[in-house]
Amino acid sequence: MGDVGAEIGTYTYDGDTPADARRAIRQAGHIVLTNPDMLHSAILPHHTKWTKLFESLEYVVVDELHMCRGVFGSHVANVLRRLRRICQFYGSNPTFILCSATIANPDELAAALVGDEVALVDDNGAPRGERVVVLHNPPVVNRELGIRQSSLKATRDIAARLIRAGVQTIVFAPSRMRVELLLTYLREVLRNKPGDAERIAGYRGGYLPNERRAIERGLRDGSVRGVVATNALELGIDIGGMGASVVMGYPGSLASLWQQFGRAGRRHDASLSVLVASSNPLDQYVLTHPDYVFERSIERGLIDPDNLYVLASHLKCAAFELPFEEGEVFGAHTGELLDILAEEGVLQKAGQRYHWMSEAYPAEQVSLRTASTDNFVIIEQGPNPRVIGECDRPSAPLLIHEDAIYIHRGQQYQVEWLDWDDKKAYVTPVAVDYYTDAQLAVELKVLDSFRDAATAGGEFEAGEVAITFLATIFKKVKLNTHENVGWGKIAIPEESFHTSGMWLSFDEPATRDLDRDQVATGLAGIAHVLRNIAPVYCLCDARDIGAEAQVRSPHSQRPAVYLYDMVPGGVGLSDRLFDVRDELLEAALAMVLACPCDNGCPTCVGPQVESNPRAKRSAVLLLERVSGARAS
Ligand SMILES: [Zn+2]
Repeated sequence: MGDVGAEIGTYTYDGDTPADARRAIRQAGHIVLTNPDMLHSAILPHHTKWTKLFESLEYVVVDELHMCRGVFGSHVANVLRRLRRICQFYGSNPTFILCSATIANPDELAAALVGDEVALVDDNGAPRGERVVVLHNPPVVNRELGIRQSSLKATRDIAARLIRAGVQTIVFAPSRMRVELLLTYLREVLRNKPGDAERIAGYRGGYLPNERRAIERGLRDGSVRGVVATNALELGIDIGGMGASVVMGYPGSLASLWQQFGRAGRRHDASLSVLVASSNPLDQYVLTHPDYVFERSIERGLIDPDNLYVLASHLKCAAFELPFEEGEVFGAHTGELLDILAEEGVLQKAGQRYHWMSEAYPAEQVSLRTASTDNFVIIEQGPNPRVIGECDRPSAPLLIHEDAIYIHRGQQYQVEWLDWDDKKAYVTPVAVDYYTDAQLAVELKVLDSFRDAATAGGEFEAGEVAITFLATIFKKVKLNTHENVGWGKIAIPEESFHTSGMWLSFDEPATRDLDRDQVATGLAGIAHVLRNIAPVYCLCDARDIGAEAQVRSPHSQRPAVYLYDMVPGGVGLSDRLFDVRDELLEAALAMVLACPCDNGCPTCVGPQVESNPRAKRSAVLLLERVSGARAS
């Protein structure tokens, strides 16, 4: 790389950066592009090698601020605390610039993340053409059964018409499998015009980096006319503005929907955004209540940088990086935590300073993310075996089990052998008229109960639970007609994690006059409300909390609703929820009662809505009986 002189050196420093380049970047980088994980585990612990950067660091840009929500955001806030501490040591005091997609509270989230005041800049002076938003409900094709045209086909038809008319179009599909199916179908219908099929690309997690870069380039220069993507293309990747975006199925949050809509839009031209509803109740609700899309407020981003579990982990990392001075502040309770670590022998207090004592390297023990980042590699067999793609570990049992049809960029492969221990799947290209669809069973089991408290019509407990995931069987589904043409068993060991949970069991009298169906829908509704209001009480994200309803709990033999930390080992969320249990129940009841819907909607009792008009009433009845509201 040599002497950069007056040139501005811009370098990427991530897990893929080769070792010799790393040394050069540390010396020469004017602009270093990295991610929170690398900052946490590779840069901050080795700050002595980055003296040049830290001495003169002027700006820190945090892109995609809206992703830094919940437990992950709490981790990132602590990584930034460590960054500011190191900068201070080297005498710099950088300005933070944070960029966010649409969320309700960008300034509040940014301030919590950097631990300082921020100024919000939210006026976009760029000219923007008119945008037309269409919510499309595919027509009913079977009046008696109320079955609608499949959203997959409706999406294909709309996208094909747009692409044929010369409109560059992005299509969002809800899963990787649907991306490949839509890609296959779109190429089929567009094949009548030579060259068209090649100009339609897929884009999703699991494609190799060079494949992705080529597709992004093609979108920018206009040679790719249509792309079918998962939410991997929502933001942050420069593909220019598309003429139209077509979203297959409501993506689960308004923020996500508007980000996907937002991929269409150019400076001067008009653009089109279409939501195509599936027949599931959540989509049907959104379609029949368009106000929900246009008038409900976008979700808020919440973090808790002083969560004790998260804070204590990063305090250790910070102590490894530089000794702590007595009285130094690093989040809440710094002094007490340092004393505890000194008592445990992790730190040694000498004079006014706490020094790191352990041999171990603390950042290695702390992962910022819940999901494991180890990927499975997918290898095409043959005389010259080659890697065609990757698959993350949680998806592997569903997508690359033996005999699965794995579709990659529209090409079908059959999985011949899955080497689970070595994380490799061996595949061969095939041409069959079906795809495979695997089913996952999720099970919650109570391992231990540590706390309990009686409530009006039941009992609260908190303790340890095990969450188990088991891929059970796969169906063979015929292309185009989507008929079921066979099935097979999946032989992959179950995956499980232990975490903390809290749960509410209902006494027998509280459900005596309700039938099984009422109890089931009521419990599912309560689980949904609780999961959605719980983040406000523990400053996390809905993704960080799991919820489950059991009509007859194996633990208590009674109907029960569970909330648990979606983080292996737990980070104290359920304990906090146990502490505020009465408030939580009252808030849940108030929220369902205050919801303007008649029989339940996605905001209150969740996606079971229109299929089950009793959901809201059952949930209210059960909540009243356990929150004691009925007595008043
Ligand atoms: Zn509602």
